[in-house]
Amino acid sequence: QDLRLSDHPALAAAAAVGPVIPLFILDDATPGEWAWGGASRWWLHRSLESLSKSVPLVLRKGAAETVLAKVLEETGASALYFSRDYAPWSGHQEKRIKDLCDSKGVACHRLGGFLLHEPESIRNGSGEPFKVYTPFSRVCFSKGEPRTARAAPKVTWSDTRPSTDHLSDWKLLPSNPNWATQMEANWQPGEQGAQTLLTAFLDNGLHRYADGRDIPGEANTSRLSAHLHWGEISPHQIWQATRQRMAEAGGTLDRSGEKFLKEILWREFSYSLLHHWPDFPTKPFRNEFEDFPWGDDQVALKAWQRGETGYPIIDAGMRELWATGIMHNRVRMVVASFLIKNLLVPWQDGERWFWDTLVDADIASNSASWQWVAGCGADAAPYFRVFNPVLQSKKFDSKGTYIKHWVPELRDVSEADIHAPWEMTLPPKNYAKPIIDLMASRDRALNAFKQLRGREA
Ligand code: FAD
Repeated sequence: QDLRLSDHPALAAAAAVGPVIPLFILDDATPGEWAWGGASRWWLHRSLESLSKSVPLVLRKGAAETVLAKVLEETGASALYFSRDYAPWSGHQEKRIKDLCDSKGVACHRLGGFLLHEPESIRNGSGEPFKVYTPFSRVCFSKGEPRTARAAPKVTWSDTRPSTDHLSDWKLLPSNPNWATQMEANWQPGEQGAQTLLTAFLDNGLHRYADGRDIPGEANTSRLSAHLHWGEISPHQIWQATRQRMAEAGGTLDRSGEKFLKEILWREFSYSLLHHWPDFPTKPFRNEFEDFPWGDDQVALKAWQRGETGYPIIDAGMRELWATGIMHNRVRMVVASFLIKNLLVPWQDGERWFWDTLVDADIASNSASWQWVAGCGADAAPYFRVFNPVLQSKKFDSKGTYIKHWVPELRDVSEADIHAPWEMTLPPKNYAKPIIDLMASRDRALNAFKQLRGREA
């Protein structure tokens, strides 16, 4: 997940020592159930394709330590440089890789670069990891500016060329059906695409960010999450460029700039949670939620996945996700709340659907966010907060711009009716009727939450 050349500490360190063999290993074996989902695989293909244009990339597939053992043998490399990863299985794997290097007399260097702050470095006064975001972010800010981002190093690529797989043989792209056509039109995976988006956001979006980041029908956010996830841009580069713009604007961008930097710190916070509580992707952080009486409504889950719930803002979000691999943050919260609280589907089912369909599917941010919405996370929304999709829609998509874009059945519906079309005298015939009553399902959820062991409403 470090598919870039600039501000890449591991690459810079390797390049400073001698010729480099750039190796990418697709390891589907080690993550088990968390092997990359469909949308991630599409992005990965395009990102590797992009990187291959400037780098003689060697591609191999298999458990990383097994592949590395072979490549070290084949090349006689004297040192290995790689970027640290934070997934629950990575610590053990990195240890196995270190042992392999030691056994072969190969120097092993693990460097950071994916995060601004290593998870061990941000702790509270008692030396414990933070469970709450605000004090976590305060400590991050109090540490001063992160290190300066660096330009791409001058790299001498090694003449030793081990054999490489063909990217197309990995079959990362969908076919039959090819569901990625809109994704192709929406994204430019790779380092260049990330830099272009960053500049566009700083030029056109940042000044509206504080007030506009919650409006799904407007392009006010950076859309950098997938690029960050794949390491096509470093958080340091984003931080520094934002700070620079803020300084140049003489105070006028401060409110939006600070808000944006705080969102970058939500990513850091998610990684801190994952590092300290590696069960985060599967187990509720609050134990009492293990006993929650979830339902098993597979029909409702399918309707949610397909964007056929009869609630326009939910359906718009789920269709945006399917078509483009992304969903606006405000809408992610609303669809997640609807699934968990109105439909009583376990948050892990939603998390997995996002894992398969998001281009920014990220083991830390996804699990922390799902637990946040469910109310079972570390610094979570209170369990009794149930987002009302109609009110959310009226507030954040008041003219129905976003809904009309993604739900063509409602294009001719008036602004007044679009948030709750079932209340019209003649609702559009080709649009789904609501699959559940909002108020009754809300009450059912609140009762279930109240009964959680050791809790009182
Ligand atoms: P911007 O508003 O421009 O924010 C800048 C960057 O800050 C983002 O690119 C992202 O890296 C980070 N960021 C922003 N909000 C959050 C957040 N709440 N948590 C962690 N980092 C954040 N984000 C992911 O990157 N991957 C996921 O798998 C993911 N799953 C989510 C699931 C749910 C249920 C919810 C509610 C949120 C999820 N998010 C996830 C967080 C957030 O929705 C996205 O990061 C954001 O929408 C990406 O759009 P952007 O790049 O335009 O964000």
